[in-house]
Amino acid sequence: MEKLVITIAPTGNVPTKDRTPYVPVTPAEIAESVYECYKAGASVAHIHARDETGRPTYRKEVFKEIVDRIKEKCDIIIQLSTGARAGRTAEERGECITLAPEMASLTTGSSNFPTMANLNAPDLIEYLCKQMQAYNVVPEIEVFDTAMIANALALQKKGLLSEPLRFNLVMGVPGSIPASFKNLFFLVESLPAGAYWTCTSVGPLHPNLSMMAMAMGGNVRTGIEDNIYYEKGVLATNPMLVERVVKMAQALGREVASVKEAREILKLNRGEDSK
Ligand code: ZN
Repeated sequence: MEKLVITIAPTGNVPTKDRTPYVPVTPAEIAESVYECYKAGASVAHIHARDETGRPTYRKEVFKEIVDRIKEKCDIIIQLSTGARAGRTAEERGECITLAPEMASLTTGSSNFPTMANLNAPDLIEYLCKQMQAYNVVPEIEVFDTAMIANALALQKKGLLSEPLRFNLVMGVPGSIPASFKNLFFLVESLPAGAYWTCTSVGPLHPNLSMMAMAMGGNVRTGIEDNIYYEKGVLATNPMLVERVVKMAQALGREVASVKEAREILKLNRGEDSK
């Protein structure tokens, strides 16, 4: 089995300081949290930006400050979010792509979140794909249900995505595919041969599904974006969540990839600095 790539999702769009004091929201807090997670074993950072009031923002100045601060500390692979909660227009959603990060997220379909639609219409998805191609950004395909795998393959046929495809199987977000062992197995079986995949799971089965993903040869995402609790009644910090994944990997005999090794596994070929 290949070494394990651990992605840290430290912030997201939803967690607030009211709910957990451990969620990093300012660029300085996010960069520090990412650096702590890098030292703990994370090799990819999935980044959302917040404005001065703590609300999600699509503004590239904020993304740029976060990216610059992270790059001062470490060479972790940076993946910026083009998710639906921050921006509305295609240009807003894709604004962070113009910073030419190494990776960006791309959701290949729509679903419902509890209070809003996670709306990704075909023309928006195609726009984001074209922007990523223009700026040489590698997309991570966010799969909230099975149809999004099929949609990604259709985009590949159109020349808007190219191999190797990198998937993030997102489970347990209300309105999306539930987090269960059966569903993880089903999603993995539905992927094209040779695809890279990681597993994001929200809810109390997060450690279990992470373990299952690692045992199946997949990779793992963790972080406060997905789970504010470490276990029942105990709030998580981002490094705590990464450290638990590392311990589980050790128990399975699965080595954790360095950033340099993660770039090789993900086939990122931009030649960014890597120790
Ligand atoms: Zn996200």
